[in-house]
Amino acid sequence: MTDSNYRALAGKRGLIMGVANERSIAWGIAEVLQQHGAELAFTYQGELMEARLRPLAEGLGSEIVLACDVSVDGEIESTFDKIRKSWGGLDFVVHSLAYSEKEELSGEYLNLSRENFVKTLEISCFSFTQVAKLSVPLFELSGGGSLLTLTYLGAERVVPNYNVMGVAKASLEMSVKYLAADLGGLNIRVNAISAGPMRTLAGSAISGARKIYSWTEKNAPLRRPVFKREVGDAALYLASPLSSGVTGEILHVDSGYNIIGIPK
Ligand code: NAD
Repeated sequence: MTDSNYRALAGKRGLIMGVANERSIAWGIAEVLQQHGAELAFTYQGELMEARLRPLAEGLGSEIVLACDVSVDGEIESTFDKIRKSWGGLDFVVHSLAYSEKEELSGEYLNLSRENFVKTLEISCFSFTQVAKLSVPLFELSGGGSLLTLTYLGAERVVPNYNVMGVAKASLEMSVKYLAADLGGLNIRVNAISAGPMRTLAGSAISGARKIYSWTEKNAPLRRPVFKREVGDAALYLASPLSSGVTGEILHVDSGYNIIGIPK
């Protein structure tokens, strides 16, 4: 860039879903996107989350902070309705949320229950498709848009204890590709970041998470963990016109760990 004042998201408005606290990947993304000029709205899952999120959001100058539990009928619809009333159009959405019962993020996949399978897929995968559908009319008012979600290597390979979440992330990654094909004609791009393991609330719900962190850090090509800020930088690329020719992509931001077959 020749213009040192260039800000990739100046004048753009986006919704960030999935900040639980300052450790959340969604928070790392929000900070970077706001620094590059974006105006942000946030959603939270429950009252406890609201108390944590509201001061953080206000610190980034955000006035729109909305309740949205994606498993509750009508809450995603009401979120998009409120954003339409406040802003009209929208330029990007970051979907950074997932859920599964902790007991099933441990041991063998074989012991999966039907109830938790449905719940995990509904919250962690189906919600993204719903968000995409409801984003379309708002993106159309802006002449296009960018949808972004978060995934993990456990969608592609077996990671101990990741179990049903790996199956949900595999579905999510294919949803990214089908949605990209559906929406490309409207200039709506759909991508995912496959982040390396990070010390967050969701990350620590996986049994043996510490071993996964240390193994990955030791054996990744960069020999270090990935930082929230780096996921934020990748999100800046995918949410902004910097990636205008990119859709249906799963971008690994994982210190390179995904390329390793047998560690050296
Ligand atoms: P986090 O715990 O900070 O965020 C998870 C968010 O999901 C929370 O804000 C929670 O409120 C939200 N959520 C759960 N159920 C919900 C529901 N029913 N409705 C609305 N929101 C709901 O953890 P994180 O690690 O920042 O996770 C964000 C995303 O990144 C998830 O999709 C996760 O799978 C993915 N991811 C995490 C890692 C990691 O190692 N932490 C690695 C790769 C991908």
